[in-house]
Amino acid sequence: MNTGNLKTILLPTSLLLLLACSEQQAIDTEDAGPLARTVVETMLDNMGGLASLRNIDSIVMSGNGTRNRLGQIPVTGGIDPDATLSGVTETIDFVLGHAAFDNDVVVGDGFSQHRTEALTTWRGQKIGWGTTRGRPNIATSVNGLFSWATQNTPEMLLRRNPVSIAIAADGAPQGQVARQVSFNGRPHWAVDTLLGPEEITIMIDQETGLPGGFSALDTETMLGDVNAEYRYSDYRPVGDVMLPFRHEIIKDGQPYSSMNYTDIRINDPTALTVFTVPDDVTEQADQVVAQQAWAPLQWNRVSDTVFHVVAFSHHSMVVEFPDFVAVIEGPYTEAQSMTLARLIEDNIGKPIRYVIPTHPHYDHTGGLRALAAAGASVLTAQGHEDEIRAIIESSHSNPPDALAQRVAAGAEVGQVELFSGMTEISDGDQSLLLYEVETIDHVNPKVLAFVEADGILFQSDLFFGGPGPDAAALFQAIQTLGLPVEQIVGGHGGVLPYASLVEVNQ
Ligand SMILES: [Zn+2]
Repeated sequence: MNTGNLKTILLPTSLLLLLACSEQQAIDTEDAGPLARTVVETMLDNMGGLASLRNIDSIVMSGNGTRNRLGQIPVTGGIDPDATLSGVTETIDFVLGHAAFDNDVVVGDGFSQHRTEALTTWRGQKIGWGTTRGRPNIATSVNGLFSWATQNTPEMLLRRNPVSIAIAADGAPQGQVARQVSFNGRPHWAVDTLLGPEEITIMIDQETGLPGGFSALDTETMLGDVNAEYRYSDYRPVGDVMLPFRHEIIKDGQPYSSMNYTDIRINDPTALTVFTVPDDVTEQADQVVAQQAWAPLQWNRVSDTVFHVVAFSHHSMVVEFPDFVAVIEGPYTEAQSMTLARLIEDNIGKPIRYVIPTHPHYDHTGGLRALAAAGASVLTAQGHEDEIRAIIESSHSNPPDALAQRVAAGAEVGQVELFSGMTEISDGDQSLLLYEVETIDHVNPKVLAFVEADGILFQSDLFFGGPGPDAAALFQAIQTLGLPVEQIVGGHGGVLPYASLVEVNQ
């Protein structure tokens, strides 16, 4: 039998199979339910009525919870530690489109921070301001906000909250039939609707007639597009309405965050002070308005060809070669990388050929995609390949970030390039040595970068001037590699003499 005959025999068979399947689906319609409008109207009544929900101008939710997916794995391929959130205050101003987080976050190993991040308005433009206790306030463009709260940014809190979701249910189209689904282990009616431009599915609990939650496509800065499920329970009266006091967020099938609220207040104007841009960053806020994408950065010269670009918490090092520059570390946010790219253009005027992440922790990699969008290859240690590829190569569609927009426009963007063990970037007299070190506890492996001509070593998260296990491991690694280090440039902090690392390891 020739293959032509085989095809003619197989084709009808597969068609029959298709027909059989569609017939099966047609019979299997017991998941269809009442009209969506009917269950939505009951739901809105149960929540206190659409008018009462629309009268909510602002909301303040306080409580305690957990946050997962922080991107702080201790060893590549390892388990991301969970964090607890305490003293959480989440504030939303629905009228002006503002949202803010304020909370303490404690990561598995005991690292803790008190953080505040707010999406607000300055001179008619949306901007962000934020602070970590002990560090200065900053103002930044909205894509410069980075949160380790119940969401990745306050902008997500503004889009994903039970009030907005309940009101969005009212937009469910006429004629839609609700589908019976199991959601969070209970029978629900699923209703599709629009939340602004987004398609979401609201789940209405068949027993309580209240929203059990909703599903949507979230674009996470680091994870990219993920299917997200928001679960609401523990409904209690707040003024004229019923609101859920327990929220759980599942992204990509895994726990993302959860909150038990102890207090929810509506229309309390005193809560809105968090949206006032602090006096000490109004000049920065003016910069944001002037530049569109902006985060505060200082351009510090370390040698003739090496520059320390200092942000409010996470820094980069720029190494100038005859024809290009290499950047060590693309931390934190898109706004920071866009500002860094402008500073490089203004101060050096050469293309960014490489960005080199020292480790895949999210706070040190949140700006990688924006540098790839600017054309930089992401030169990555073999041991970080999976984590860095996941960041650079995931799709980001809701909304698209700078890299996704460049790719969609068919522009040339930087790709992931790998090195294993050790590599050297050299051009003319300049040479940058990169080492993939496997003896440091903070994260394994860890990349150290060394500018040979100036004796300048770049490290992140290991040495802050005092002794400690990571400082000892860094000292040991430098000894083992036999590097003639003179100065240490930090992903945090400033530039330290090598003698200070020697001193704490005597
Ligand atoms: Zn780290």
